Amino acid sequence: MKNGICPKCDGTIIVQGVRVIDRSHGGAQQDLSVAVYSNPNAWLFKGQVMTELWACVCGVCGFTELYATNPDVLVKAAVTAQTLGVPKKEDESEPE
Ligand SMILES: [Zn+2]
Repeated sequence: MKNGICPKCDGTIIVQGVRVIDRSHGGAQQDLSVAVYSNPNAWLFKGQVMTELWACVCGVCGFTELYATNPDVLVKAAVTAQTLGVPKKEDESEPE
């Protein structure tokens, strides 16, 4: 889709950088976001990392594809979560 061709209809009228509006319960507008917890097992301070989504919309059929604005921060949080979640490998080496 970023290459300017719709995967659904092969249309070439692609609108990029479209804001994806979310509405809170109060009706306020905000950008739709995705979040990863870098420390999901914590009681508090789970280390929520968020990034907004933006969209590519096909101007022919309306197919919409979502992209994270800053995927790098999600990757870092996910890696941190894995590192924290994996038990230390002490005395677990199996003899061959
Ligand atoms: Zn299309």
